[in-house]
Amino acid sequence: MQFDVVIVGGGPVGLAMASTLSGAGLSIAVVERAAQAELATPAFDGREIAMTHLSHEIMERIGAWGLIPEGDISPLREARVLNGGSPFAMRFDPSGRGKEVLGHLAPNHLIRRSLYETANACADVSIFAGVAVTEVRREEAGAEVELADGQVLDAKLVIAADTRFSAIRRAQGIGAEMRDFGKTMMVCRIALEKPHDHVATEWFGYGQTFALLPLNDLPDGRHQASAVVTLTPDAMARLMALDDEALGAELTRRYERRLGRMTVIGSRHCYPLVATYANRFQARRLALIGDAAVGMHPVTAHGFNFGLRGAADLARRIKEQAQHGKDIADPAMLAAWEASHRRATWVLYQATNVTAKLFTDDRPPARLLRDLGLRLGGLLPPVRKTVLAHLMESRRPAAAR
Ligand SMILES: Cc1cc2nc3c(=O)[nH]c(=O)nc-3n(C[C@H](O)[C@H](O)[C@H](O)COP(=O)(O)OP(=O)(O)OC[C@H]3O[C@@H](n4cnc5c(N)ncnc54)[C@H](O)[C@@H]3O)c2cc1C
Repeated sequence: MQFDVVIVGGGPVGLAMASTLSGAGLSIAVVERAAQAELATPAFDGREIAMTHLSHEIMERIGAWGLIPEGDISPLREARVLNGGSPFAMRFDPSGRGKEVLGHLAPNHLIRRSLYETANACADVSIFAGVAVTEVRREEAGAEVELADGQVLDAKLVIAADTRFSAIRRAQGIGAEMRDFGKTMMVCRIALEKPHDHVATEWFGYGQTFALLPLNDLPDGRHQASAVVTLTPDAMARLMALDDEALGAELTRRYERRLGRMTVIGSRHCYPLVATYANRFQARRLALIGDAAVGMHPVTAHGFNFGLRGAADLARRIKEQAQHGKDIADPAMLAAWEASHRRATWVLYQATNVTAKLFTDDRPPARLLRDLGLRLGGLLPPVRKTVLAHLMESRRPAAAR
């Protein structure tokens, strides 16, 4: 079967890529190893994704935003970073930037569902579900994508969106920086006694990191949040062994009753913390997008945001090539896209890793640095400004238009 573009991986970024590419006269295939039912109705996976204004715009443009039920989208008015027992907090708020909120939170499974519906509705997108890609063979003139059931798809361009542990990336000889933080992150929904005022908190305590993501109130009026706890795998195993009541009491204790009693109201999900940055994002007739290119530590909530940004940027460049009857896998175009995506992601990728490492190191010198970092970050406008610029970026840059 012949396609212009074959996307490997029907995760959120692969599906968004298909929709952003649609409408340019190209034939697009998405191959996803998970079954069609899993794509159409993904199960709740505990992730509440904080989306920037730019992600909101891209999702709206492809028609996915409106498919997420309104009540499941929670506004993020402010974010605060707290350090150990120190009173110094770094605050991020949208004041002076013409927006009322920093961004929005939506559950990952509903984002995935909306992106599947959007891609599935595109006449020029074919979705092959329940079958894995086993091999990609690239030549000067085109590429072949072999599926586990023996089918072979011909493509002018293969786009790998196959997780941060991308097998395609590795098989094609592209290395990646892999940073294992040796920690596990647990996420679960909780009810709170006191209101959170839609403020997210990232509290780097000693021996733990505890984030609270503010969600809309429950139908019965109780306040709701997602608890995000980072611990060593051993400590996490002990936490996971607790029943819901004991876990609620333990979370209340760990959060020092700052928002009153916490009650577990949802399933718990654990994720190992490994960050990835590919050495190259493209090669002849191949591009890497999403986590396969840049797999962020979730602490700065940018993995999906970067994935969407990179996909929209690449789609715009491919469409331009197609409109002018040029090669949609032109090496110069792919190289320019890679340079642009590196510029957009590299600094925050490194800053995120340094922050995650420093703020989970409890040794005295690190504690001192942490405190100083927050004092400086809290006091020096340029530091906050850089981080805020990422959060508040809203006009689609030329690159993402
Ligand atoms: C706890 C947590 C919280 C997060 N919070 C945020 C946040 O607040 N904001 C944010 O922007 N990001 C956040 N992220 C990151 C975000 O979830 C990821 O960046 C995003 O899921 C990446 O999407 P993707 O499509 O690139 O990859 P994935 O979601 O990993 O999807 C890849 C897909 O490829 C498929 N696949 C793999 N190999 C093959 C193959 N050989 N053949 C066919 N299919 C294949 C897989 O089945 C999968 O469906 C968070 C992550 C975690 C773990």
